[in-house]
Amino acid sequence: MRFLIFLLILSNIFIWSEITKALNQKNEVSFLDVGQGTSVLLAEPKISILYDAGPNGLKLTKALDRHLPLIRKKVDILILSHADQDHYNGAFDLINRFPPRIVVISPKDSAEAGWQALLQKIKAKNIAIIALKTGSLVETPGKKLFFLNPPINQINSLNDNQSSIVIKAIEPTSSFLLAGDIDKKTEFDLIKKYNRFLQVDYLLIPHHGSKYSSSDEFLKTILPRLAVIQVGKNRYGHPNGETIQRLKNNQIHFWRTDLQGELTIR
Ligand SMILES: [Zn+2]
Repeated sequence: MRFLIFLLILSNIFIWSEITKALNQKNEVSFLDVGQGTSVLLAEPKISILYDAGPNGLKLTKALDRHLPLIRKKVDILILSHADQDHYNGAFDLINRFPPRIVVISPKDSAEAGWQALLQKIKAKNIAIIALKTGSLVETPGKKLFFLNPPINQINSLNDNQSSIVIKAIEPTSSFLLAGDIDKKTEFDLIKKYNRFLQVDYLLIPHHGSKYSSSDEFLKTILPRLAVIQVGKNRYGHPNGETIQRLKNNQIHFWRTDLQGELTIR
């Protein structure tokens, strides 16, 4: 009996702590540690948006379990920046555990088998798929999301990485630029088009710190308070020493998820 009461008290404490967690939830942006890949959770009390699903569903769903409150274990919108496995593969498990209402994809189509299998799975679950145009704005109670890339009129001449969805997220206290796997050419096009509008507090370094991204001009235009390199064990040499050096030359502090783990900004 005593044991049962103890268990009841314990479960009540657990429920109350979960309710308080949900009520106190503020805007939170988490650069999840999903290994070699990208996944960023933009959570606020009434809506959660996931930018990319990383390479591994188990790692992703575990991380989301920790971040999402028990009474609102939901991802409302999943944005898949482009059709690379290190950005979409975790979505297979995500769709089973936290089925989103909408999946936003790049307008650039890919014939890659895994990507096509994922689209089939999303359709089979009756989840809406939207290819959002550049210039679109998504507004939630806590933030504005500006879709800056890819340009629809050049879509056929772009490769997969260049067609990554790039988002600027503006929240009341901070701003973020999530840049997928774009290369220097795309960075240059973005600077030409948006210039100072690219400036944010937190920059998700494109392409896991590849040397073919994060040009000096791009870093100088954005000048973030902090750059985040989402990266894990890989055979491509990410993050590249040249990128690290460019960050240092511009006196930009950076965070590496492979060395420092996940990072949450509140
Ligand atoms: Zn990637």
